[in-house]
Amino acid sequence: MTTEELFRKDKELIWHPFAPLKNPFEYIPLESAEGVYLNTKDGRQIIDAISSWWVNIHGHSNKRLAKAIYDQALKMEHAIFAGFTHEPAVQLAENLMKLLPDSFSKIFFSDNGSTSIEVALKMAFQYWYNLDQKQRTRVIAIDGAYHGDTFGAMAVGGRGSFTKPFFPFLFDVDFIDFPTEENKEKVFEQLEKFASSEECSTFIFEPLIQGSGGMRMYSAEILELMITIAQKHGIICIADEVMTGFGRTGKALATDYVSSHPDLICLSKGITGGTLPLGITACNSKIEEVFQSDSFAKALLHGHSYTGNPMICAVANESFDIFTSDECQSNIQRVQEQHQAFADKLRRLNCVENVRVQGTIVAFDLCGFGETGYESEARKEIYPYFLEKGILIRPLGNVIYLMPPYIITNEELEKIYNEIFIFLKKFE
Ligand SMILES: *Cc1c(COP(=O)(O)O)cnc(C)c1O
Repeated sequence: MTTEELFRKDKELIWHPFAPLKNPFEYIPLESAEGVYLNTKDGRQIIDAISSWWVNIHGHSNKRLAKAIYDQALKMEHAIFAGFTHEPAVQLAENLMKLLPDSFSKIFFSDNGSTSIEVALKMAFQYWYNLDQKQRTRVIAIDGAYHGDTFGAMAVGGRGSFTKPFFPFLFDVDFIDFPTEENKEKVFEQLEKFASSEECSTFIFEPLIQGSGGMRMYSAEILELMITIAQKHGIICIADEVMTGFGRTGKALATDYVSSHPDLICLSKGITGGTLPLGITACNSKIEEVFQSDSFAKALLHGHSYTGNPMICAVANESFDIFTSDECQSNIQRVQEQHQAFADKLRRLNCVENVRVQGTIVAFDLCGFGETGYESEARKEIYPYFLEKGILIRPLGNVIYLMPPYIITNEELEKIYNEIFIFLKKFE
């Protein structure tokens, strides 16, 4: 297909995510991807500074990951996971247990981040149902949260322009304010009030950092106290680690920063190194016990056609081995240090605010663009500017952030940082 044909047929046939159908710009045809680079059909190289929506951790077209998929595809590409099991799935469960808190005891497979949230919510709701506390139906969530695009996930996410057409279909949720050092006492009070209600069942949160909500960060001390308050009332805590998992925050899980552990942890995105979709809902023994029954009435009757797909499990296992290697761990450390030095320089500028770093994520707000938001004017200017320079950055409104694959070199990071400084010059 020529580039012209691709443009035309794409426009004619394809409905792309998160965009108006009448889009002024054309989607860029990619030919291949390698390491941190996306290679366009017209021969340009674009640095993937956001890990292709936060999924890629070991670089594109990684040969070890490709081989794991290929080898498993030749052996058994897929088989029904009801009534059967296989080594890639069992191996993955065993691997994940090494990362999860000691209290964790079961792994449930689904297809993506949103479904891992749906499953966690259903486990939490049915936990109370099985205990015959059917009045416990209310959920606490944090203002501005993003947990995915399916209905349950949308319902526990912050209400905004993305979900507006669906407001009438979303179940009611008790939102607490996003916690900061300034308002935390008030937030703890809100949480205490909602959690002490007889109807409260679940508290769901993105630990340490709200991703889509604008890379908003809060401290481990605040997270620790929020979990403690909820669990004091027996409320089920769901940590949405879909973005934060697998080293993004500097440790394997954001949960590793606290000693009060959640009851359910959702994983996706980085789990397969960014190759194939997989959702994991892991639970502790407290949840498991309530489902330990031979009755269908107490079972979680949920599953997807591709549950436990062997190719996906195999590549997740290979990605796990790479992730736990000394090389990968020192890369995470290195990226974090580079980000910190970059952040120190950014803080000297007048046109940026709230410069923040958590592990391999660095973010800041660009001043003078008014409201922070996905459709802000800042975005329309920043995205094409950096693409032109060969860097993929998708700002969240006026929030510019970097979340690169861990294999990115210091030289590649330096190129990105320098281009950002050049861009910021005109706002000083
Ligand atoms: C991306 C994301 C999700 C949804 O995952 P999908 O795979 O896109 O469905 C849920 N929670 C968080 C925190 C995310 O960043």
